[in-house]
Amino acid sequence: MLYEYDGLSSLRPPDVVVFPRTTDHVVQVVKFAASRKLLVIPRGAGTGLSGGSLPCQGGILIVFSRMKDILEIDIENQRARVQPGVVNLDLSLAVSDNGYYFAPDPSSQKACTLGGNVAENAGGPHTLLYGVTTNHVLGLEVVLPTGEVIHTGGKFWDPPGYDLTGLFVGSEGTLGIVTEITVRLMRKAETVATLLAVYDRVLDATRTVAAITARGITPAALEMIDGFTLRAIEEATHAGYPMDSAAVLLIEVEGLSEAVEENALQIESVCQENRARQVRRAKSAEERDLLWKGRKNAFGALGRISPSYYVQDGVIPRTRLPEMLEFIGQVGTKYRVKIGNIFHAGDGNLHPIILFDPRDADESGRVREAAQEILAKCIEMGGSITGEHGVGIEKINLMPLLFTDDDLDMMRKIKGVFNPEGLFNPGKVFPTSKMCGELRIEAGVGGVL
Ligand SMILES: Cc1cc2nc3c(=O)[nH]c(=O)nc-3n(C[C@H](O)[C@H](O)[C@H](O)COP(=O)(O)OP(=O)(O)OC[C@H]3O[C@@H](n4cnc5c(N)ncnc54)[C@H](O)[C@@H]3O)c2cc1C
Repeated sequence: MLYEYDGLSSLRPPDVVVFPRTTDHVVQVVKFAASRKLLVIPRGAGTGLSGGSLPCQGGILIVFSRMKDILEIDIENQRARVQPGVVNLDLSLAVSDNGYYFAPDPSSQKACTLGGNVAENAGGPHTLLYGVTTNHVLGLEVVLPTGEVIHTGGKFWDPPGYDLTGLFVGSEGTLGIVTEITVRLMRKAETVATLLAVYDRVLDATRTVAAITARGITPAALEMIDGFTLRAIEEATHAGYPMDSAAVLLIEVEGLSEAVEENALQIESVCQENRARQVRRAKSAEERDLLWKGRKNAFGALGRISPSYYVQDGVIPRTRLPEMLEFIGQVGTKYRVKIGNIFHAGDGNLHPIILFDPRDADESGRVREAAQEILAKCIEMGGSITGEHGVGIEKINLMPLLFTDDDLDMMRKIKGVFNPEGLFNPGKVFPTSKMCGELRIEAGVGGVL
């Protein structure tokens, strides 16, 4: 039963769950499955929010919790080679004493695996400056549905031939199963300044986001939390967020000390020009950690005040944030649901969180409609239906809104090259005749549909 859900509730449990330790174990399982035409679904930590690892048509679930070795750390060349079950934060901790870290930092980084990050092309608060997972993965070992093992890329930049590594990153387990990952490590910045700008109006906070980047400053992180969400966070974590504000921006700049000081001063003045009530700078590493602890535990904090919630993941141009936040407010009123907002504002990556009680069928229906309306608006504004959580089973029906038939056909053809019989992670990413059935909103702890 532990494996019948991730961030979404599933429709059925897997038939079999296996825990390989080596690539060869994976090959044996895959060959066995191929010989009997059994379905195979890879799973990391199951923190995915779009149902990517759900065995919605049954089959063999390959869980990577025992493939968690860091195989090589090459500090001189700033590289590491890991098994897919390594937890994101554990890699950064392993190289921290050398002054390095792995840059993509999903808020789930204490639990999610690098295999899951690769499959979802995960992002995080610091991807504004450093990019998403694909910008940090240089090579992969992949098991194909036939049991063949291929190697893409390597330790070095720009290998000749097609960029197969880029193709596998973000393919949500539909092309192959990743059994080894070569990543680049980043040097920790000399100085980090973490600022908290406090606002009495949400509109002023959203305007500040575009104003900062318009000055030519790219913060390492630029997160926005609305008043409702931050009160829930503060009650749960005591991170020091002001309980009476309408919104806060959590802004981080890093680099050489002189540049950081200059940028921080400029950001303070942009915030003040946009009517920030207060701009506070973290005075110590502890204070910084506490602010981030609050931000990264936000989903859990909301879980204390609502039986369930549905996390959205849409993208819009950041210049349209003020308009979008107003729209989300109207959607909440129209469907009579409470929506909290916390998001990677610098990237225009929204995470409206719709609270609901899954025992209330009428409310559950309204939540689904509200969510669809928000994502449709993202597309209308020139954005996308997912910034980082993937398509999974959750957003299959929205794919035709974003892509033409020709676009989708080309993607299906590529899938057919690697996974011609559709045995790997079926029913994900593309609308097909054999989908997981209509999605239902059910009880759960995290983002649930
Ligand atoms: C509280 C919370 C906060 C989050 N914050 C963020 C965030 O800031 N940014 C972000 O991007 N995401 C975030 N997420 C979503 C989620 O954590 C990421 O998508 C993460 O990358 C999933 O990793 P996982 O190990 O849990 O993968 P799973 O959920 O187990 O699987 C995700 C997908 O990867 C596939 N997969 C797993 N392992 C492999 C493998 N070895 N080979 C091939 N395919 C594989 C699965 O089949 C599935 O399609 C958050 C989730 C939660 C619950």
